[in-house]
Amino acid sequence: MSSQIPVRQVDPNTDGPSDNKKNKPETVELYASRKKIYVREVKGLFQRIRNVSLTALMGMYFLFVWITVDGDPLIHFDLPAREFHLFTMTFFPQDFFLLAAMLIICAFGLFFITTLFGRVWCGYTCPQTVWTFIFMWVEERIEGSRNKRMKLDRAPNSPEKMARKSAKHAAWLLIALATGVTFVGYFYPIRDLLGDLATLNANGWAYFWVGFFTVATYLNAGWMREQVCLYMCPYARFQSVMFDRNTRIVSYDPNRGEPRGSRKKSADPEELGLGDCIDCGLCVQVCPTGIDIRDGLQYECIGCALCIDACDSVMDKMDYPRGLIRYTTENELEGRPSKLLRPRTFGYGALLMLMIGAVVITIATRVPVELDVIRDRGALFSYNNNGWIENTYTLKINNMAEVPRDFRIELGGIDSARLLRGQEPVQVDPTAQRSVPVVVEVNPEDLSDINTAIIFRIEALDNAEITDETDSRFVGPRPR
Ligand code: SF4
Ligand code: SF4
Repeated sequence: MSSQIPVRQVDPNTDGPSDNKKNKPETVELYASRKKIYVREVKGLFQRIRNVSLTALMGMYFLFVWITVDGDPLIHFDLPAREFHLFTMTFFPQDFFLLAAMLIICAFGLFFITTLFGRVWCGYTCPQTVWTFIFMWVEERIEGSRNKRMKLDRAPNSPEKMARKSAKHAAWLLIALATGVTFVGYFYPIRDLLGDLATLNANGWAYFWVGFFTVATYLNAGWMREQVCLYMCPYARFQSVMFDRNTRIVSYDPNRGEPRGSRKKSADPEELGLGDCIDCGLCVQVCPTGIDIRDGLQYECIGCALCIDACDSVMDKMDYPRGLIRYTTENELEGRPSKLLRPRTFGYGALLMLMIGAVVITIATRVPVELDVIRDRGALFSYNNNGWIENTYTLKINNMAEVPRDFRIELGGIDSARLLRGQEPVQVDPTAQRSVPVVVEVNPEDLSDINTAIIFRIEALDNAEITDETDSRFVGPRPR
């Protein structure tokens, strides 16, 4: 049942009920049922650009999961091993600050692009747009053009209608399933996943996530479409704060188009007192969110530029110049010059460059080894036959490289500190951690306190720059 709240018309000038509506409550509907949008297919420059971006993105998404380098997947998020393999680099949970930094870079990249060109992310690369356009393309191939689809939906059930609808949903489900399997394939090697799914030997979570992403893709791109952009995506709500009078967005030129009105191609619009808009409504019919760009900037506009392609085709037919709907700025529409570079683009751009630089330097100078030292808390210390004091530790050496490595252990901080156990180089497998028990002896004369700082250092035998060190404490008797 829809919710209704009785309201009274208020006159903004008198701050009270307007005279003619006094004491006449009106009902405002807070629930608007969805009207199905039948998007008309259109060809043109911007649709071609999107086809290229869509093919490139889809190609990467569906192909990368199959690519291996030296037997290892190009991209693999190995959650059980807590290892993340990306383009021959391996990251560990302790590298998560890099992930956070990359997410911040993506956010600033989005802000930067949005201040310059509005919602190009939404129009050309957002997964919701990409999958929706694929699903719409399939729909057009199976059910036909916009008019045919509207006719088919109005027609009573018939074998042909059932066959077309079933074929469309089967095709959608197949694409959604391929999407779900591919997504899970980034976490569960795809070849194993397909084999395990086929033989019903896959992990229960694999079935769950494949099912989840299949259903989510099918519903989002097949059924919900623009509803996701209008009601679920937060970006649409705050994008307007990034726009200014110099942001280049898809806009209708009312100075040129108005007054709108139909006319024959041979008619002179000036004689008729008309602008260039022939009020054909094509720009509305091709809009995936069902809005009329001629009403001005609206948060529903995802910047897909289909209305530009549609209107340009109309202008071509009428022999009018193209660009009644075009990428332009508010300033240009008002006949003022537009600035590409302005304080906010400099601000976002500078921050973006700084953060990209910091992440690149961090990754480039990242040392692929990590040392952790745990002191044996079972025994504080012991004396050996030489009268020296011994402490026991466990060294955890984490080799983050894709090759096995031998490491030498060295001590520092206390002059006489020597290894009694752990002098031999330690070999650690690729992307593996090894625990090494070590015993350290120290001349008691070197200890000025019951608790003295000691430094453990490891160094790769094949590369002296691959090194890490960490502090611990050496415990001894109270000095006399
Ligand atoms: S497509 Fe162009 S000419 Fe047709 S209604 Fe839209 S703005 Fe006017
Ligand atoms: S008005 Fe519609 S068709 Fe035009 S760019 Fe916005 S979403 Fe796309």
